[in-house]
Amino acid sequence: PLQLLKSRTQKSFELFKEAQKVMPGGVTANIKYFEPYPIIMEAAEGARLKDVDGNEYVDYLLAYGALILGHGHHKVMNAVIRQMVTKGTTIYGTPHELEMEMAKRLIKLYPGIEQVRYTNSGTEATLLAIRVAHAYTGKPKIAKFEGHYHGGYDQVLLSINPPLEQAGPADRPVAVPDSAGVDPYYLEHTVILPFNDLEACAAILKEQADQLAAVVVEPVQAGFIPATETFMRGLRKLTEELGILLIFDEVKTCFRVALGGAQSVYGVTPDLTALGKVLGGGFPIGAVGGKKEIMEVASPHGKKDVFEMNVTSKKKDVLFHSGTYNGHPSVLAAGLATLDVLEDQDNFETIVRTTEKLRRGLENVLKYYQIPAQTLGMGSIFNVVMTAEKITNYRDLQNANLSLRRELDYHLLTLGIYTKPLNRYSLSLAHGDREIQQTIDAYEAAVKRLLVA
Ligand code: PMP
Repeated sequence: PLQLLKSRTQKSFELFKEAQKVMPGGVTANIKYFEPYPIIMEAAEGARLKDVDGNEYVDYLLAYGALILGHGHHKVMNAVIRQMVTKGTTIYGTPHELEMEMAKRLIKLYPGIEQVRYTNSGTEATLLAIRVAHAYTGKPKIAKFEGHYHGGYDQVLLSINPPLEQAGPADRPVAVPDSAGVDPYYLEHTVILPFNDLEACAAILKEQADQLAAVVVEPVQAGFIPATETFMRGLRKLTEELGILLIFDEVKTCFRVALGGAQSVYGVTPDLTALGKVLGGGFPIGAVGGKKEIMEVASPHGKKDVFEMNVTSKKKDVLFHSGTYNGHPSVLAAGLATLDVLEDQDNFETIVRTTEKLRRGLENVLKYYQIPAQTLGMGSIFNVVMTAEKITNYRDLQNANLSLRRELDYHLLTLGIYTKPLNRYSLSLAHGDREIQQTIDAYEAAVKRLLVA
């Protein structure tokens, strides 16, 4: 399929050669690269992407899940334009009402959210949540799970994708940096936990409890491996008993597994929640929400009532949180319009039902051609994992046949189905029966080509 792909994407190749001269590896984020070169897009509409060579694709990347209404939804576009044109600016750099409006919506939807702060990305959201946890508890370490991604900074850029020979025993994983240049301090201060193994987590957390400010977890690992209910409830109980805060990283799951995120599905309330992606309706955003008691460590006047404060005092024990673009009005306008559409009629459920339809369709193809595989996911995200073995965490995933999956994805690219090779599938309101049928047909054609090869 690589030959075929290359012959269809000559202009992408030419542009990529240029891009390599001006950006390391020709990309603006490592994750955007894949072999032989990334396909360069120039237009999008609804569920579809168009590349610079004029090829069209049904888009399942959807900007890593951010575009839950598809590309260019008219209500989102209009909200942004209206905000800018009628209010006469892109950003005020001061407090404004949309910040409150969105906060109120989030508080209503998310059981774990009583107060909100905005950031400009999911990365900054988990970073802030973790700092809040350190500030609130006064403890120096955090724990994260093997295989879980929370953004690209040193404290959590550990054991996301570790080579198993360096990763230690399954029930006591060791921290392995995922990047060159990670400050060794964090190897000592980030404890790695095995996902969906409550007993092993209990042993590690009990030993480290007096050092641990928080456990940060993706309730659905990488958007497709759900925590078991027993695990999630057990983790909540354990962290509560040990005086460790529980942070849900719902950057990927917010408004995708349920309007109230994974916490509303599990009925488990975290102390802090990080949000992002869909929240900005396709524009950069992140947010941290949590219990008032905890979030107030970020208040510039501590817990004192603002009207009593001594404005000249400089509190050094107040947590620092800043950002020129935090609470960006145009972004919030896009996010609020997105929530309006999701909450309208049963639009959210429609996207979930479409996702189920696609999953069943792909499963049927794989089963018919006797390829050991399964789909895994929740709400409007899923992944196809090439093994029939049970998958509960990062180590189980190592049993999957990645080269088969990669080959299939390259065939799919040549058949007009876009997701980055090996990436998950995210769906949108713009994905209708036509796209689903086209995808299932392409999948069957790709599988046939695989079997012939
Ligand atoms: N946490 C999770 C669970 C994510 O999936 C991501 C993004 N893939 C992030 C954090 C980081 O978000 P961003 O890319 O907006 O910085």
